[in-house]
Amino acid sequence: MTNAASRRLHFTLEATAAGSSARAARFTTRHNEVLTPTFMPVGTHAAVRSQRREDLLESGAQVLLANTYHLLLRPGVEIFEKFGGIHAFMNWPRSVLTDSGGYQIFSLPGSRTLHEDHAEFTSYVDNTLLRLSPESSIEAQKVIGADIMMVLDQCVPSTVEHSVARGAMQVTHRWAQRSLAARAESPQALFGIVQGASYADLRIESAQTISQMPFDGYAIGGLAVGESSAQREDCTAAVTELLPQDSPRYLMGVGTTRDLLEAVHRGVDMFDCILPTSLAKQGVAFTSLGRRDLRRAAYRGMEGPIDPACDCYTCKTYSIAYLFHLQRVHETTGWQLLGLHNVHFYMRLMRTMRAHILAGTWLPFYHAQRAVLDARDSYGKAASHVTKALLRERKRKRGRYEVILQEDVGCIRDTASGEVMHPGSDPSLEAQSLYVEQSRLLERLQECAVEPLVVWDVGLGAAANAMAAILAVENANPAATRPLTLVSFENDLDSLKLALDHPGYFKHLRHAAPRALLSENRWINSAPAIDWLLLHGDFAVRKFDAPSPDIIFFDPFSFKTDSAMWTLSAFRELAQACSEKSTELFTYTYSTSVRAAMLAAGFYVAKGRGTGPKAETTIALSPQAAAAAHDRELLGQEWLTKWRRSGAQAPFGSLVDDGSWREAVLTHAQFKL
Ligand SMILES: [Zn+2]
Repeated sequence: MTNAASRRLHFTLEATAAGSSARAARFTTRHNEVLTPTFMPVGTHAAVRSQRREDLLESGAQVLLANTYHLLLRPGVEIFEKFGGIHAFMNWPRSVLTDSGGYQIFSLPGSRTLHEDHAEFTSYVDNTLLRLSPESSIEAQKVIGADIMMVLDQCVPSTVEHSVARGAMQVTHRWAQRSLAARAESPQALFGIVQGASYADLRIESAQTISQMPFDGYAIGGLAVGESSAQREDCTAAVTELLPQDSPRYLMGVGTTRDLLEAVHRGVDMFDCILPTSLAKQGVAFTSLGRRDLRRAAYRGMEGPIDPACDCYTCKTYSIAYLFHLQRVHETTGWQLLGLHNVHFYMRLMRTMRAHILAGTWLPFYHAQRAVLDARDSYGKAASHVTKALLRERKRKRGRYEVILQEDVGCIRDTASGEVMHPGSDPSLEAQSLYVEQSRLLERLQECAVEPLVVWDVGLGAAANAMAAILAVENANPAATRPLTLVSFENDLDSLKLALDHPGYFKHLRHAAPRALLSENRWINSAPAIDWLLLHGDFAVRKFDAPSPDIIFFDPFSFKTDSAMWTLSAFRELAQACSEKSTELFTYTYSTSVRAAMLAAGFYVAKGRGTGPKAETTIALSPQAAAAAHDRELLGQEWLTKWRRSGAQAPFGSLVDDGSWREAVLTHAQFKL
């Protein structure tokens, strides 16, 4: 079969491995010849994070991936018009592939609406409303000057119902036709995208439909969004079997080195992923010895390069001890050097795979590498010397936080103020009682609703509350029927990083989710459906990026450590954020001044259950929640009388003389019931 594709990319299949679908091929874009299998480093904003152009060229990168969605927002297409395209703008002489923006519309926080004609979403830069249609996406990619453009597709989580996945797939097929028409006679290549979530029948239908269209290449989209690697591999194998032999095949957004090996074995030619540079920032290196994590104390003072089999600049120049040190002191050079090595390692792995396919030695190579590349966090031989005694000796400190033990249970203490998170009780038990049980989280996830239940976790800390929620939902019987969107807010991630360094003391962190959240700012689970997002930064700012909450776990440090969280104006903004919904907020304090601030801000305030040494805690209800049937015990005249006599009447940060809050409390509807 020959299709129109070969006219633009001149694709040549050179070899297919015996006993495997692995293939070696070559094709030519407007800028260079591309040898496959190949990996495309991700240059989201027309730059690969922390990497210089010279180093990327040196690594052998043949194609860079850039994100249309991000480039549309910044710098804007007019800049590409002015410079004559992305190649001149970033001075990159080889190929560029642009994605269409479909994945970002689906995956970034913020509202979006999908129509038959186009998708509508709010810009994360300035909150303006933007539209992207198949035609406008192609128009933008033409101006950006991509060698390879991608069709706009409708991504849905791999966990959605069959009917929803089918609907999105059908729209994707119609959009594929419209994209081809919009590309018209442009010499730029265009790839179609196979969708269908995690349903085998839909994937097959989509592969058959898309491969009938005259694209220059075929991509598998919508994977790497929550499914297991076995599911992904099965799906990849089923789809590649149906795609044309004489065109490149591209698995979008995948993955680790082991994932690449498995997908090449199943007939994929092209890949992109942020892992080589994003994990470098975390201190993780992909090496011929498996993954090495420079956060491990075992590497302190170790001589020799991080990968003895590597000839990249980093490995030729620096010892592992030096890289460990740079990571420890958060020196950005360390991130850059490790990223450089990781990109080189990925590129060399692809070249090695290609050589084995061409030499007829693929299968033995594949079987041998599976064990090596899968040696996740095989920290080299030194790891075995990290004993419990050594761990105890290590300073249990990071940034302003330290780990302390309360009856063998780990807690995080703020060394600046001396305040302990969840003092006087087991953090996991307190999280379970105060936040998960009291909010009736599991019952609310049984409600008949399609839209997710949104929980704000204010003050992620060591993730005790978020993980209590996740573990409860994972173990729920009956299983949750409604998806959960959990949004954690934190301005200083050191407490979680510190706790993750001491898994022996923090049982709730023995789970894949917290590390995924730290490295990707997100963790997605399919069954039960959980989407956990991290909004890093000031809560005062980041709360505007989150969907309105149904439930708020309000657990920041207290006023003496984190005063801005507890002021009247902070509660006013919070009340505004829940004004449209029936929202309940749970917090550990029962301070008179905090309750007065909540009342003055417009919340209704009820007594919460006691915990540890505290006889009582507090629940704040939005007016809608207060109007609905509830059995919360609202503060009454008795509290108001006490408040009148109290020396702590004023909300934190408010002037005693300013009477507006006093009036608001005294005339609150809650006390007229
Ligand atoms: Zn290296």
